[in-house]
Amino acid sequence: MQETLLEVKNLVTSFRTADGTLQAVKDVSFEVKKGETLCIVGESGSGKSVTSLSVIGLLPQNGFIESGEVLLEGNPLQDLSHEQLRKLRGNRISMIFQEPMTALNPVLTIGYQLREPLLLHRNVSKREATVKAVELLKQVGIPNPDKRLKQYPHELSGGMRQRVMIAIALACHPSLLIADEPTTALDVTIQAQILDLINDLKAELEMGVLLITHDMGVVAEVADRVMVMYAGEKIEEGTAEEIFDNPKHPYTKGLLNSVPNVDDPSFELEAIPGSMPGLNEKISGCKFHPRCKFAMDKCLTDVPPHFVDTNGHTAKCWLNEDEEVDTDESDRKATINV
Ligand code: SF4
Repeated sequence: MQETLLEVKNLVTSFRTADGTLQAVKDVSFEVKKGETLCIVGESGSGKSVTSLSVIGLLPQNGFIESGEVLLEGNPLQDLSHEQLRKLRGNRISMIFQEPMTALNPVLTIGYQLREPLLLHRNVSKREATVKAVELLKQVGIPNPDKRLKQYPHELSGGMRQRVMIAIALACHPSLLIADEPTTALDVTIQAQILDLINDLKAELEMGVLLITHDMGVVAEVADRVMVMYAGEKIEEGTAEEIFDNPKHPYTKGLLNSVPNVDDPSFELEAIPGSMPGLNEKISGCKFHPRCKFAMDKCLTDVPPHFVDTNGHTAKCWLNEDEEVDTDESDRKATINV
């Protein structure tokens, strides 16, 4: 059995706004095992990026973890000081952002930005860091690495910059790699190459990967397990196979039906009607009911629990009422005051 690397228990993340304190992530729990990729999926505003920023401690100034726990190899991260968290980032946990041009520093060379985490977290000389930087660029498939080290981000293509971001993220062999929409800004061919690269490096370095995306095509390429989020809540979780072959929540089915299926000529694309509710919108019962074509009377008034089948596949939807209520989720909920 794979070892648990990251454990998030009943995470509640909120933002202080002019309209008061608003919850963006509501009682979300999940795990990432060593050597496993968990994809968090949802539309924009589902809370998936806020979840990942909560894990790595990079919430915007008005954001904060209201309750819950984030444990890396059993150690609580939210108890760490600013300085301790900074040391952890780039070392044991690394993050790849959506747009490499904004994440890379435009006035520093690629070489400087690659050497920085090595000099900061590893006891190496500048010469050793340069040798390692060349190795890293080779590992992520960048040709002429010696030349690239002397270049600035604007001199590289979008795909190259994203590879550099991955090389920086991997510099200190992190146990956990968080990738937030890592291929959204790239064309399809480069996207496939980057996803292959993340897959290969995960296997080679035995990392856990937490990948955030709205794209079910990306999920199909890399996920071992999938967690679907809607309006700040986890609404479905299972193995990638289960989610694709047997989706249980109408929202997940909607996400799958909105991706073209070129292998099936009879497949009809179907958009999910309506839009994600805002943080300050109050919806009774199931939060998805205004958009759900299967909504029943009780969906409008009663919040569904997480139901779980014998494969451990969970869905927060009344359509699965014939299954057991997931007591793991209910027990965890009982221990916190949300
Ligand atoms: Fe639709 Fe009801 Fe299930 Fe919510 S609980 S997703 S409204 S069927």
